[in-house]
This record gives sequence, structure tokens and C-alpha cells, in this order.
Amino acid sequence: MNSDILLDVDDVARTYSVSKGLFRGRVPLRAVRGVSLTLQRGEVLGIVGESGCGKSTLARLLLGLEDTSSGRILLDGEPISSISRLRLTRRIQPVFQDPFSSLNPRKTVAALISLPLRAHKIGTPREQLRKVEEMVDLVGLPRRILDSPPNQLSGGQRQRVAIARALIMRPDIVVCDEPTSALDVSVQAQVLNLLQDLREQLNVTYVLISHNLAVVEYMAKRVAVMYLGRIVEENETAALFAEPRHPYTRMLLDSVLTADPDLGLPDAPIESSYPSPTAIPGGCSFHPRCVRAFAPCGTVPPSPLRLGVGSVECHLYADSVEQSAPSVRLPGETTVNDREGSLS
Ligand code: SF4
Repeated sequence: MNSDILLDVDDVARTYSVSKGLFRGRVPLRAVRGVSLTLQRGEVLGIVGESGCGKSTLARLLLGLEDTSSGRILLDGEPISSISRLRLTRRIQPVFQDPFSSLNPRKTVAALISLPLRAHKIGTPREQLRKVEEMVDLVGLPRRILDSPPNQLSGGQRQRVAIARALIMRPDIVVCDEPTSALDVSVQAQVLNLLQDLREQLNVTYVLISHNLAVVEYMAKRVAVMYLGRIVEENETAALFAEPRHPYTRMLLDSVLTADPDLGLPDAPIESSYPSPTAIPGGCSFHPRCVRAFAPCGTVPPSPLRLGVGSVECHLYADSVEQSAPSVRLPGETTVNDREGSLS
């Protein structure tokens, strides 16, 4: 295994059973479907997609807050399912969207930030306080707020408290799930800059999950685009924004260029409504909305195809891959030769 690969997500799926309504039985909801990706040490990987695409479920799987239905997630080669909850929280920490609900209003800021140290029984109370003071300095908060409850702080300050708590154990990975979307526009950039600065100072690796393309473009080195529980395109950030390959990625970029000045994705996309993950279309799941759909798209699911350093899951690129078939296969990847039977 490549020693730079910190996290290896291998063909992971998560399915729920949900009620169809009173007396109407239950139906599977396939929130994450066969996702494979790797996270390199020290990088920022952005995961972008509309509401309901499965990105927050994927975040919870990466954090070990939920079990996978199939597939596996390896942290430094070790399945996270075999790592104790306590040990995993030393390595992977979350920063969630809403700092208002993620901080207990009955605790002081000092108690909130020191919680991981106390849970892991690290240091004496005096040593813990010193680490807390270091962290509030690092995240740009004044020490005088340490004895305050979080509800006396602004939204931006609360998110800084959440970031301090996430980083106090010096985890390898922080999973940031929409870290700025609950904040005023005026403080979003400050929090993003803080996350960037801390990444450089503490050598932390981020998974950044967002519906906001501008946030991902600013922060991430690589981007994965999710649609109905699948990664449909992945590439280096500059390349993906300059030359989107998947028709869905193109649609996202086109829609935000005209619809929303802060590049946030609309909940209901412009072209048509987002399909339910309980009724995923057959073939390519994007085909009912795809302006470039052709013969095989309605019946044959495309597989991830490597193109240069990126990958795309779309039949349009089958010929490109044939001309430069890779010698090394990505997790979950197929080559054209593998797929000939199903395409014919
Ligand atoms: Fe569109 Fe077909 Fe590509 Fe799916 S496989 S994105 S339907 S062209």
C-alpha cells in the first residue's frame, strides 16, 4: 500500500430501510453506492454534490459514526471497523455545519474544548488547561471567553470553538461537513482561512464536504463529485473546474454561474428535480437529466474510468480510455475491455 495514502475507501455502500408511509411497507434507500476514493496525507479532498447526494452519509461513514453496508474503509491500512471508537476519535475528528447545535450550551468553552483530552485521560487538569489556552490562541479566540457558555458567542466564534475541540488531539484527519454554511457570509472567509492556516501549521488532512463550489475550489486540492450516492467524477481541483468532464459536473458549474452569486447549488436543480435515492434510475442514474444521453445510458451503468490523474463515470469517455488504457487499476475501476460484454 502507498504509505502516503492515509484513508482508503474501497467500494463502500450504505443502505437504509425507510418507511414508504402508513401501511405501505418499507423500501431500501441507497444513500452511498460503491464509493471508492483515497485520501493522501496532508491534502484537502473536496466532496461536492447537491442535497441528498449522500455526501453527509459518507462523512458519517468516514468518521465511524455509522457502519458500512458493504465495502471497507482503511485508515493507514487498518479497517476502521476494527478500531475502537475511542482510538478512532484520536485519529479522525469532525467539524459539523451547525456550531449552534454541536456545542452543549450548559458547558463552558474551556470544558467543551478540553472534552477530548478528558475522555482520553490525557494530562492533568493544569496541563489540559494549558493545551486549551494554546488552542484558543491558535484559532484566534480571546482567552477571556474560556469561562463563557457557547451561547454568548457569535456564530463564527462558536465554529472556532468547534475547530479547536476537533484539533486539540492533533488528529490526522478532520472531516468538515459544510463547515461554513450556517455562518454569515462575512465570516465564512475568515473560517476558511483559519482552516487553511491550521492545516499548514498542524499538518492535518481534511475531507471537506460542501454543496458550495466556491468553498471547495478555494480549499481543496482534489474534488470528487457525488450524484445519487456515486462518485461520478474526480480530479485535481483546477482541472475539474477548468474542464469538467461529466455532464453532471458541467451542469452544476453552469447552474451556479447563472443562478447563485455565492456559487451554492440550488436544492432543486434547474434542469429537473433530483431523483429520490429510494427510486434510483437504471443504467446511468443521471440519464433522465442528461443532455448527452445516448443508446447505452438508459440500461447500462457506466463504470469509473481513469483519464489522466482523474476519473469519470460516463459512457462518453469509453473511447478515450481505450486509447490510453491504464496499467494500474483504480479501486472499483474497470477498463473498456472489462465492460465490452455489458456495453454490447
Ligand atoms: Fe450522460 Fe450517458 Fe454519460 Fe450518464 S453515461 S452522464 S447519461 S452521457
